[in-house]
Amino acid sequence: MAGHCGAMAAGLWARLGTGCPSRWPRGWHLSPGLRGARLAHAGAADRLQREYDAVVIGAGHNGLVAAAYLQRAGVRTAVLEKRHVLGGAAVTEEIVPGFKFSRASYLLSLLRPQIYAELELQRHGLRVLPRDPYSFTPLLEDRSPPRSLLLGHDMAQTQRQIAQFSQKDAQAYPEYESFMGGLVSALDPLLDAPPVDTAALGQGSLLQRLRALQALRPLLRAGLVLGWQLPRYYEVLTAPISKILDQWFESEPLKATLATDAVIGAMASPHTPGSGYVLLHHVMGELEGRRGAWGYVAGGMGALSQAIARAAAAWGAHIFAEKAVCHVLLGRDGRAQGVALQDGTEVRSKLVLSNASPQITFLELTPQEQLPKDFVQRIRQVDTRSPVTKINVAVDRLPSFLAAPNARDGQPLPHHQCSIHLNCEDTHLLHQAFTEATHGYPSTRPMIELCIPSALDPGLAPRGCHVVSLFTQYTPSMLAGGWPWDEQARNAYADTVFDCIEAYAPGFKASVIGRDILTPPDLERIFGLPGGVEHLPWRDVSGPAVLRPASTILLGLPVPNSQLVPLWKWSPPWRRSDGSSGTQCRPGGP
Ligand SMILES: Cc1cc2nc3c(=O)[nH]c(=O)nc-3n(C[C@H](O)[C@H](O)[C@H](O)COP(=O)(O)OP(=O)(O)OC[C@H]3O[C@@H](n4cnc5c(N)ncnc54)[C@H](O)[C@@H]3O)c2cc1C
Repeated sequence: MAGHCGAMAAGLWARLGTGCPSRWPRGWHLSPGLRGARLAHAGAADRLQREYDAVVIGAGHNGLVAAAYLQRAGVRTAVLEKRHVLGGAAVTEEIVPGFKFSRASYLLSLLRPQIYAELELQRHGLRVLPRDPYSFTPLLEDRSPPRSLLLGHDMAQTQRQIAQFSQKDAQAYPEYESFMGGLVSALDPLLDAPPVDTAALGQGSLLQRLRALQALRPLLRAGLVLGWQLPRYYEVLTAPISKILDQWFESEPLKATLATDAVIGAMASPHTPGSGYVLLHHVMGELEGRRGAWGYVAGGMGALSQAIARAAAAWGAHIFAEKAVCHVLLGRDGRAQGVALQDGTEVRSKLVLSNASPQITFLELTPQEQLPKDFVQRIRQVDTRSPVTKINVAVDRLPSFLAAPNARDGQPLPHHQCSIHLNCEDTHLLHQAFTEATHGYPSTRPMIELCIPSALDPGLAPRGCHVVSLFTQYTPSMLAGGWPWDEQARNAYADTVFDCIEAYAPGFKASVIGRDILTPPDLERIFGLPGGVEHLPWRDVSGPAVLRPASTILLGLPVPNSQLVPLWKWSPPWRRSDGSSGTQCRPGGP
């Protein structure tokens, strides 16, 4: 087995750490390495035209969804992506030859079900691989074998697992699940409602303000659903998650496992007020009708982006890779007129949507003199510090955990498909790891979420080999003393992570064929995520995830009021709902 994989490693080291996968043919394509990647009718899309009805900057999955809905509604749309591969942070890349990694984003849950259905993503090739069980927390203990905690959708089984640590917690768990489910059901419709424009509530005529008040209706409805429980739920969203979990449970492994969802991707500890809000994002998705479930995408996360791109292209959208937008063309009235590419080409369009971050959109792509100073200032002040270093690892065998050793045949066991939580024995450990990072030092016992998607999707790696995704925190974007995140610092941190894994699964280090280390600055450089941040505040309404069809900034409007709008609700041609503030578009005349 190892020999087979060893052959794949040839020539590997020359490419590691460069963050530069092999190049694919120019022009647009659906996925690295996919044969016949050009779409059937790509002929017309081969040539970038000089004018479209709409241009989307960036082919992240949200940009692609926006393009699909626009084109479906009859708006001639082009998507311009600067990288050689479509999908933004939802991509599959073959960093190590033969190993296909979901290089950044790796689990699916938050894709809105109506997008899945309306874009016919299944017909366009999307296949999801749900996980059950879904969470595995092995412990480091002075007993042999050490214990572990396995959570799944079978409640009786899950309660038996929890009972190893506390009978009381096992009994409380179903009630906790249904309590959280109540909050999710109430808030779920808000994901499909336009965000409330709080400024509009205090501006304009009485009539305009009353109209703006209507935007509060979904919120009020959510409040009514929560009913008398509202204060308890309010506490979940605002209190530290440790406080909430302490009210429900006594066993540390369970609390720490649940707390990971409240801090993942955020520079926050379980003791940070508001961490419950992050938790909510991670329990409010669904997969194939199962609330809160997360799963893998067959072929890696890039297969999702490909399916969306196929849907958009099937309606006639033109999608181009390696087309970096250099700036947005604005008229004297401040309205978008198109974009200029880095190669000097200009593409005219009355509607420009930016899928790039607010920082790139407003600080790099939009002429600064056209923007109000206080608006620019607000964009500069957005906190984008990320605690995350993603490490993608190619291994020649499955990790064998002391708490659940592999069978002789080395085949995947149920826990291998889970999110495997390491250094999660108790919430105090998570807090310690966080505290180190707040002082500018990478955690010495980082919180690690280890996933092995190839356990369910063997095609991701050569036979017998596996791809391992390590979502780790806490690593500060800026190291103490202004020390750079250079090769030495990156490798030192990755070695710390590997040492930790080795303690739970001896033999892991020897199984490693190659690794791709993405610190916060790497995530910024490669994916354009400011500070490497996983969730941008403006995209946070719908969580860190693959969900909101247009967490996309509309530039056809006077820029300061640009905001995220759920585009699937729209049908063009476009008109601003409110002549003065331009906060939202509705169907109507141009
Ligand atoms: C390490 C990591 C792990 C994550 N894991 C998960 C997960 O498991 N599940 C989950 O649901 N979410 C996860 N997320 C979050 C999720 O990936 C993002 O929220 C999501 O991908 C955002 O999608 P987007 O389309 O809005 O933007 P992006 O994916 O950021 O896409 C923006 C696109 O714009 C392009 N662009 C930027 N500037 C220009 C320009 N000038 N010209 C042309 N194109 C440009 C970029 O290249 C990029 O392709 C993760 C994020 C990170 C960083």
